[in-house]
Amino acid sequence: MSASDQAECAVSIRGLQKRFGTVDVLQTIDLDVAPGEVVVLVGPSGSGKTTLLRSINLLERPSAGRVTVGGDTLSFAPGVHTTRAETLLTRRIRLKTAMVFQAFNLFPHMTALANVAEGLISVKRLDRESAHAEALGLLERMGLGSKANAYPATLSGGQKQRVAIARALAMRPQVMLFDEPTSALDPELRREVLSVLRDIAAGGMTMVVVTHEMAFAREIADKIVFMENGRIRLSGSPDAFFGSKDPRILQFLTAILA
Ligand code: ADP
Repeated sequence: MSASDQAECAVSIRGLQKRFGTVDVLQTIDLDVAPGEVVVLVGPSGSGKTTLLRSINLLERPSAGRVTVGGDTLSFAPGVHTTRAETLLTRRIRLKTAMVFQAFNLFPHMTALANVAEGLISVKRLDRESAHAEALGLLERMGLGSKANAYPATLSGGQKQRVAIARALAMRPQVMLFDEPTSALDPELRREVLSVLRDIAAGGMTMVVVTHEMAFAREIADKIVFMENGRIRLSGSPDAFFGSKDPRILQFLTAILA
């Protein structure tokens, strides 16, 4: 891929490394995500999927390498400390991304509506009335219009996650990042969240999803990235991944589908 192609990517990562103490958790990762593409990160526990996802919106500060999101690029090198320019660019990149976490991370003292409206008021600077109208529209899209005034403690896990997704969508991100969005849920609640993710993908959103749901990955992914020991071992179509003869991938699939 040429430099100009990279610039057109929603996300482009080059030579990304992340070291925690003396452990190299990510080793020279290259990854491109085209606008509208759905990339699913899979691999054994501890292979670095979450760290890679969190490096895209700089919740983890890379030890080395380059991260480009929506045309903004930040480069990192060992021993180089955070500068004011980095802080500003980090903020810009965060505004272009929205993350949905495994544990929902809703504000417990706020209603579903207030959770979704909060960023619209504090980040997007909408007045309260417009923010609430937009938040209600998003909750309705999630099938949760009737739960607008409910507090998180009274919602099921699937409903909480759908509020969290509505909150992320409210930021109108260029890229959505999902970190195991269904793994805290019972199987029947997973389905409702997966169905929402399917709708968002069908709407053309650029998405990077860490998941252990292989059937879902096969259905939704444009590209599957298999990670092992902090490296990308395979990056390809769902057919390339599920048809792979790589013994490590076969071993992973056998274990996860068992
Ligand atoms: P995965 O998402 O594939 O399970 P992670 O990205 O969560 O993998 O973790 C990769 C490795 O990095 C693991 O060995 C984990 O223990 C380590 N790790 C993750 N976060 C930290 C941290 N904040 N401090 C130290 N080690 C970490």
